[in-house]
Amino acid sequence: MAVTSNIVILTGAGISAESGVNTFRDRNGIWSRVRLEDVATPEAFAAHPGRVQKFYNQRRAQLPSVKPNPAHHALVRLEQSHAGSVTIVTQNVDDLHERAGSQNIIHMHGELNRSLCAACGASAPHRGDLSIDSECASCGAIGRLRPDIVWFGEMPYQMDRIYDLLRDCDLFLSVGTSGNVYPAAQFVQEADRHGAHTVEINLEPSLGVSDFAEARHGKAGTLLPTFVDEVLSGQYRF
Ligand SMILES: [Zn+2]
Repeated sequence: MAVTSNIVILTGAGISAESGVNTFRDRNGIWSRVRLEDVATPEAFAAHPGRVQKFYNQRRAQLPSVKPNPAHHALVRLEQSHAGSVTIVTQNVDDLHERAGSQNIIHMHGELNRSLCAACGASAPHRGDLSIDSECASCGAIGRLRPDIVWFGEMPYQMDRIYDLLRDCDLFLSVGTSGNVYPAAQFVQEADRHGAHTVEINLEPSLGVSDFAEARHGKAGTLLPTFVDEVLSGQYRF
């Protein structure tokens, strides 16, 4: 392993689920009870802003009741102790990586704790409920603040930067992702094509497991601390 090797970690719903966050796509996930067309598209917000705000207010209100788990903490340790760069690219909209202490995080699907103004485009930290009367601190528009979440039909954030990181990384680690959400499902191929070692850590084999050089299956909270120990001790070669 080169001392200055770069590591990119893609995280998905599985890592949050182990903290008790309600996930969206699982068999008993949120999309089995709520039609995503009703709450997670720009069209839904235009037609029923109050309903959409309420849905995300409930998700945001859940955050203080969940805590980072050993998998989140292991990634903090990796970032603090690894000599090269460590970047988390997360599909999750919760704040568990931040609360664990990770610094270098890209929220490709947005964040529950940020608002986005549909009038001026300003993104700002936001705590508490959003309502159809909320006022934008940047432009003063009323009723145009939405959760800063990438909805269906919208482009995930920072894709250029993410692809630069994938091309430049030595180790690509995917944790708790099902492999059925694009474009994230293609990241492993991009990293592999540019010479990275690729590892999947997931509860069960993902749809894309055959794209990875190595896979470990079980709870991220158990497997990831061990994996990080191996990397930091130099015992794990990639
Ligand atoms: Zn605004």
